[in-house]
Amino acid sequence: MKRIYLDHNATTPMAPEVLAAMMPYLTGEFGNASSIHAYGQNAREAVERARSSVAALLGARAADIVFTSGGTEANNHAILGAVSAASGKATHVITSAIEHIAVLDPCRALARHGVELTILPVDRDGLVNVEDVRRAIRPETVLITIMLANNEIGTIQPIEEIGKLASEKGIVFHADAVQAAGKISIDVEKLGVDLLSISAHKFCGPKGVGALYVRKGTKLDPLMYGGHSERDRRPGTEDVAAIAGMGKAAELAHKNLPAEGERLRMLRDRLERGLLDRVPQSWVNGARAPRVPNTSNLTFPFIEGEAMVIALDLKGIACSMGAACSSGAVEPSHVLMALGLAAEDARATLRLSLGHQTTEEEIGFALETIPAAIDRLRQLSPTYKKPAIA
Ligand SMILES: *Cc1c(COP(=O)(O)O)cnc(C)c1O
Repeated sequence: MKRIYLDHNATTPMAPEVLAAMMPYLTGEFGNASSIHAYGQNAREAVERARSSVAALLGARAADIVFTSGGTEANNHAILGAVSAASGKATHVITSAIEHIAVLDPCRALARHGVELTILPVDRDGLVNVEDVRRAIRPETVLITIMLANNEIGTIQPIEEIGKLASEKGIVFHADAVQAAGKISIDVEKLGVDLLSISAHKFCGPKGVGALYVRKGTKLDPLMYGGHSERDRRPGTEDVAAIAGMGKAAELAHKNLPAEGERLRMLRDRLERGLLDRVPQSWVNGARAPRVPNTSNLTFPFIEGEAMVIALDLKGIACSMGAACSSGAVEPSHVLMALGLAAEDARATLRLSLGHQTTEEEIGFALETIPAAIDRLRQLSPTYKKPAIA
């Protein structure tokens, strides 16, 4: 059976060049990057080469890149580390209602320890209002953390304007850019961020490795203690192979960027328009906001998203609800709820996310398969009302 993968916001397949870049460090070049001998020097060279490639993808200086175990660690490091470095007085943190849980959960953990937390709402299209950020700022605000691109609906936040506000007030500004890296161009100077998180496996790199950009001079405590690697910011022996893979993935993403973004946008728009035409009473979430080019989040009322994901999997299409399913209980997505969707509509939603190996032909297959599967499920739905034919 033909299988197509439309869940690239969950993870991406590794590019063959990435695996090739990793192989030497999984075999003969096994040195510890902190060792003085030739084995160590070769490993060190690979880590520093990767650091330059990741820096180039972000418009950053190589010295400002810290390798981590992924996006989750980078976000935790940024949030817990910035607040810890500012401690000693009352502290206040600002974030948004549609952040990834790897941002919301560390913020909530801080709130349990007495940090004041403001979670800003978003509008119907999933955008944070810059005026809301301005109004939320207090004298004790030490950190603003707002994502660059949302993982469920793909909306791109006005990070540049928020960055200006933060720097005017001397507040540390972090952006989770995990879903933006490799999809849109990122320039940490233009964005005005102090801290920015990315993860390799979201742009054709290996899992378990990411990076945190730390602007020179930003006060940031480490998450862990136990060694001097990554300039004292992140102890532990580096995963040289994973880091080398991330470097190669960054290099490829950087090289492919404008053209690949355009290609994905055309495919995504064709898929979206085709589904809206073929499925009555459906809509795209975040459609009027700027979005990353690979993501489409669609609501098909009267169906259960989970039933939909399973039905499509049986037809060979891998996608997701965009909502986290935990231990069997499918909670409606906090992102879609923040957009103001009714819980039953949030549950009737699919996230389709395209990637580097998505083809025109696959989009054609999806356009044949998805509307038929939705129609079948709707026929079974006790709440489904066929639109009256005009
Ligand atoms: C995937 C993702 C993360 C987590 O990254 P990992 O490397 O999987 O830990 C964080 N933020 C966003 C927006 C993501 O999409």
